[in-house]
Amino acid sequence: SFENVGFIGLGNMGSRMANNLLKAGYKLTVHDVNCNVMKKYSDMGVSTKQTPFGVAEASDVLITMLPSSSHVLNVYNGPYGLLQGGDILRPRLLIDSSTIDPQTSRKISASVSKCTLKEKKENWESPVMLDAPVSGGVVAAEAGSLTFMVGGSEDAYLAAKSLLLSMGKNTIFCGGSGNGSVAKICNNLAMAVSMLGVSEALALGQSLGITASTLTNIFNSSSARCWSSDSYNPVPGVMQGVPSSRNYSGGFASKLMAKDLNLAASSAEEVDQRCPLTFLAKHIFTEICKDGHDSEDFSCVFRHYYSGKSE
Ligand code: NAD
Repeated sequence: SFENVGFIGLGNMGSRMANNLLKAGYKLTVHDVNCNVMKKYSDMGVSTKQTPFGVAEASDVLITMLPSSSHVLNVYNGPYGLLQGGDILRPRLLIDSSTIDPQTSRKISASVSKCTLKEKKENWESPVMLDAPVSGGVVAAEAGSLTFMVGGSEDAYLAAKSLLLSMGKNTIFCGGSGNGSVAKICNNLAMAVSMLGVSEALALGQSLGITASTLTNIFNSSSARCWSSDSYNPVPGVMQGVPSSRNYSGGFASKLMAKDLNLAASSAEEVDQRCPLTFLAKHIFTEICKDGHDSEDFSCVFRHYYSGKSE
């Protein structure tokens, strides 16, 4: 039942998500710091605003899709930010789909709940914030098949569901505020470590004389089988249609993996949780970025181990 949707952050992901909202018939108001992006949207006939607060004033629900925590904090708390209206907010629902640390999601959600609604509607007592990071990348954002991992109040989640499903095919409620962000960084941590494990084992196997294809077949019918071995194999030539078969182009950039591992590592430190592999994985992906492979898919970590010739 949301008619006016605000969208802030129209980059690789956000622009595709916003386009799917337009296709679904929502009335959009958008903002981005990049003037070229703004011009593109105003040329399409979409209403654009110079500030986040301007978007808030025109929206019942507002979505942010920004690079990292500092940008999200800036859009909420910075000059002309969403919360600059003296604690009065027009949007009933604020959804942040950026990948950020759960602590920041929780802090923002708490300050949103303290605000009052400009106009009470449909039994909403006060504005609510949901953290709703996505898995799927630009291909899924374009196709409208993202998965949203949502943290916050369950009622707000249910109210947001149909809006989210016009940009994705799946929504999963993860529990209270910040839990969507927890789910996202933990998923990517497990994915990073499994990719490292599979890459290391396939490198060792080849160095000891077995081909990567044979060893992959063994993994996939044995206990080492996982997404990194059977759907996203890191060794060039073993699978078709994956980044490793096209020089690690496209896919999920190593710099985004390094960013997500940084979030996992700093969150682990904050709650005093032992996570040795998180720190090692973070170190390895940071090195890969320093070596100039930051834009290549993260499965290029295989090359970090193996410099011999693959089949
Ligand atoms: P991006 O850098 O392409 O887009 C970010 C957009 O935000 C840009 O257009 C930028 O101009 C705008 N922006 C930055 N600061 C702003 C501000 N203060 N006010 C308004 N606009 C501002 O990033 P992306 O790839 O679209 O990723 C967005 C988020 O989604 C990130 O948190 C990322 O980790 C996450 N994510 C990305 C992928 C992916 O494959 N790209 C997959 C899953 C999740």
